[in-house]
Amino acid sequence: MLKGNLGYPRVGVQRQLKKACEQYWSSKISHDELMKVAINVEEEGWQTQAKAHIDLIPINDFSLYDQVLDMVLLLGAIPHRYKPLMATLRGSKDLDLEAPADSASTDLYFAMARGYQKNGLDITPMEMTKWFDTNYHYIVPEFTASQSFQIFSNHVLRAFSRAKELNLGGATPKPVLIGPLSFLLLGKEKEEGFDRLDLVSKLVPVYIQILMELQKRGAVWVQLDEPYLALDLNAKAKQLFNQVYSEIHSKVPELKILIATYFDGLADNSATALSLPVTALHLDLVRSPQQLDAVLVLIQQAPQTSPARNVILSLGVIDGRNVWKNDYKKSCELLQKAVAVVGKERIVISPSCSLFHVPFDLDFETDIPKETKGWMAFAKQKLLEISDLHDIISGNEEALHENRKAIESRNRSEIVHNPLVKKRVVEIGPGDAVRKSPFSVRQKLQRERFSLPHFPTTTIGSFPQTTDIRQLRAKLRKGELTQEQYEAAIEKATTDVIRWQEELGLDVLVHGEFERNDMVEYFGEALNGFLFTKNGWVTSYGSRCVKPPVIYGDVHRPNDMTVRWSAYAQLQTTKLMKGMLTGPVTILQWSFVRDDQPRSNTALQIALAIRDEVIALESAGLKVIQIDEPAIREGLPLRQRDWEQYLDWAVKAFRIASSGVLDTTQIHTHMCYSEFNDIIEHIASMDADVITIENSRSQMELLQAFAQFKYPNEIGPGVYDIHSPRVPSIDEILELLTRASAILPPENIWVNPDCGLKTRSWEETKASLSNMVEAARRARNFLIKGTGA
Ligand code: GLN
Ligand code: ZN
Repeated sequence: MLKGNLGYPRVGVQRQLKKACEQYWSSKISHDELMKVAINVEEEGWQTQAKAHIDLIPINDFSLYDQVLDMVLLLGAIPHRYKPLMATLRGSKDLDLEAPADSASTDLYFAMARGYQKNGLDITPMEMTKWFDTNYHYIVPEFTASQSFQIFSNHVLRAFSRAKELNLGGATPKPVLIGPLSFLLLGKEKEEGFDRLDLVSKLVPVYIQILMELQKRGAVWVQLDEPYLALDLNAKAKQLFNQVYSEIHSKVPELKILIATYFDGLADNSATALSLPVTALHLDLVRSPQQLDAVLVLIQQAPQTSPARNVILSLGVIDGRNVWKNDYKKSCELLQKAVAVVGKERIVISPSCSLFHVPFDLDFETDIPKETKGWMAFAKQKLLEISDLHDIISGNEEALHENRKAIESRNRSEIVHNPLVKKRVVEIGPGDAVRKSPFSVRQKLQRERFSLPHFPTTTIGSFPQTTDIRQLRAKLRKGELTQEQYEAAIEKATTDVIRWQEELGLDVLVHGEFERNDMVEYFGEALNGFLFTKNGWVTSYGSRCVKPPVIYGDVHRPNDMTVRWSAYAQLQTTKLMKGMLTGPVTILQWSFVRDDQPRSNTALQIALAIRDEVIALESAGLKVIQIDEPAIREGLPLRQRDWEQYLDWAVKAFRIASSGVLDTTQIHTHMCYSEFNDIIEHIASMDADVITIENSRSQMELLQAFAQFKYPNEIGPGVYDIHSPRVPSIDEILELLTRASAILPPENIWVNPDCGLKTRSWEETKASLSNMVEAARRARNFLIKGTGA
């Protein structure tokens, strides 16, 4: 029986990698310095796993920006527009498989992630979207019909060799790659007329080359992540799995390949997965414990010659996506069941997925009360749980007793269960989830009340969170500022940004969200049932990390949460001010959620709290209120059969939150960085008066779906990408608005960036918004009055 792991957090215990990347981007440190930090962080992760006696330690799960982008570089799938940057790259020489990373290739890599505006070049970044149903964002590979592949980076090879040299307490370093089919499926066709899956014949030889190079360097195990095996697959994809893995097996038969699936069960792909000629198969038994029975039956029934007869099962019994202590009794039941069929020698005890989705180490959390802390486990603690489970299955049951006590204490605790909250959820009636009048009536009333111009301009809420702003909070925490001084400083920042928006001529203003550290944390802090970590960072995209709150108990709102700042802001201007809230599904989705009741139940509890806040904002004079739901899509189950049920309660939660107001109060919602096409009718049924939605990276593709569906309400398709420092030109924005007006009724179109501006600098923000406002002005003349700019 082995102890395995699929991946480890990579930003550094002190977020060293984040800081180093950001310093490198602003030219404050050299390439060598960046690499030094990166290697330290990477090796520290390996050592931690070695110390915890993990037998199979993942290598190459580390990344400077994103693991999918690493694959793009590794496989040389560099989109054509970056060619100018490749001119300086290793001259015309072939890649030296042993050479250390040079700054030119690192810069090319970062350019693909972040765009490039230097030396007379202006290259847009690659698209980014959410990693399955997580809050991690990956870079979407781009494919063309004539796409070619070649080994283009040696990171995985060098990392493996380093791991090998370090010895790691005798553990086996196991390189991790995204498998060929998932790599293709994660990407997008950038031209019409071909299917990216057809590229597989060109891709697989390169994978085989990489696997051979790894083998040459001493690799015994390799993990190929094929999460798509746990998703709905068409017949062609299923058949390709067989073809591809047979080919790989025939070329590197001695290499032990572990196929990792996660985030859902194999379900109808079980037979396909078990027929693949690989050494081991990883199952996520947290998301789908029921798949184990089906898999075990298939193994027992498999013909003698089938690979299933010998397959090693990596059993993901420890939740890699949540922070709760494992219930050893439950896990052991699953493990024993498998042991009974395949024997101990064919079991690897593992987390359900990469531990990258949880924070590093609970030991840092000195402020979490002992009671709740006793219920939790972060990445490092989860490694120990793997060891404990290994011991228990091996007959040493010492750890079982303590674990039982912790699990029972949580089940019974009074800080978890609040009868009043439970009662209010039960009493929710159908009337609580509908506005007073239908949209057409509300729209008319709101138009009369607001008299906004065509193409009204607005922003999504946050303005740059400069160091100065963040320091105000730090100083308040340390007692270097009094509450009064802090509030005065935030008031000043808010007033300044209001004046600035007025001068610029934006139509619907925002207060800037300077008082908020984070759009979920801020609300969690004001609600009961949440707890916070000091160092519980997880990567959201690139160098950006978030510290998700932990929902441990019934949620309830003891006081107003945002009224103080929104009411203040509205008093500073005669223009419309948007109240700004985070929606129930997003709060749920971006928190570590309790696993002792259905998510839907927790969502409804949060919805009631937000509803009360919306009503309080209305009473305080806010006429426009935005309820952000950027995470609504990522909560969508990965398997289509589960969609309806999720969408039912998710939409209901939003409607409960938003339906307590008058017809004349305008409800906005905002969504970003997800594929929305397939849930458009549910987005419509949320019935927000206005939706602002990310869209510029996909070049208005999204709007086609909104147009086809005849989306009834008002809509602000994002006109520029805020994840990139690049400033969009007036013409570029006008072009997007022209395209949008061709597909949607122009009188329903709002003009706004893709998302909030908190991560941007003021310089970029001012330049970009000023171009945006000018583009809207020209659009009014040009597209509405038809007079030309
Ligand atoms: N109102 C939030 C902001 O502007 C929305 C952020 C988001 O969608 N992720 O920052
Ligand atoms: Zn957004």
